[in-house]
Amino acid sequence: MIRLIDVCKCFDRKEALRHINLTIKDGETLAIIGGSGSGKSTLLRLLVGLIRPTSGEIWIGDTEISRLSEKELDQVRLHMGMVFQYSALFDSMTVGDNVAFGLREHTSLDEADIRQIVEDKLRLVGLEKVTDRMPNELSGGMKKRVSLARAIAFEPEIIFYDEPSSGLDPIMTEKIDELIIQMQETLKVTSVVVTHDMASACRIADRIAMIYDGELIAVDTAEHFRESKDARIQAFFHTLRTVKGEEPA
Ligand code: ADP
Repeated sequence: MIRLIDVCKCFDRKEALRHINLTIKDGETLAIIGGSGSGKSTLLRLLVGLIRPTSGEIWIGDTEISRLSEKELDQVRLHMGMVFQYSALFDSMTVGDNVAFGLREHTSLDEADIRQIVEDKLRLVGLEKVTDRMPNELSGGMKKRVSLARAIAFEPEIIFYDEPSSGLDPIMTEKIDELIIQMQETLKVTSVVVTHDMASACRIADRIAMIYDGELIAVDTAEHFRESKDARIQAFFHTLRTVKGEEPA
């Protein structure tokens, strides 16, 4: 379970997040949605321990991560998979070496075992026969898959996705969404997905958390979000209908 208790984050005088209280249950997929500058990335960076809260507590299981040293945080992060926006692959390494990178850095597994894990994880994300290719030979969607294969190499308990559909067309976005659902079903992981895409959030998430101007204004199922009378929530559905060419309700 992940718990945020009264978390605030300030940058200089700017309050990026205010009094966030949120519980993410084991095995659930939570989408964090909000407009540009609302505080989504700040929340994600807090959850993976890249930055520390100005006040409040962040618990991952029984560990209060905001009090840990960098070394202790590294240990906690081994149980987290991270899929970054724009995939963040090493361009000078093959796909296989990208997926193997963390395993070579942080384990004493022998090379044969590492190669086996790399093949297994690439197969799990629907990629075969790309182990020796370079990232720049792959499409945007394939790069996201490689990034996911790298994230699951350690068999994490939690996977964090930062804008997984950024830069992808609607068809590729749906495929990545299906993969996120598949990861949750087959690996039984907890997934936290930061997105500005309401359609995607509705497809993948058990619950959606909406951040608006640094505040958590709602945490609920997609059905309840649709029925909400809150203008800030409806604005997201309005954009969706307009993009699809439908008449706004
Ligand atoms: P989002 O991911 O929803 O677009 P962010 O979490 O990146 O929003 O940013 C929330 C607010 O915090 C914005 O006003 C942004 O300018 C500010 N902010 C984020 N990171 C920093 C930083 N390192 N220094 C100063 N301000 C920041």
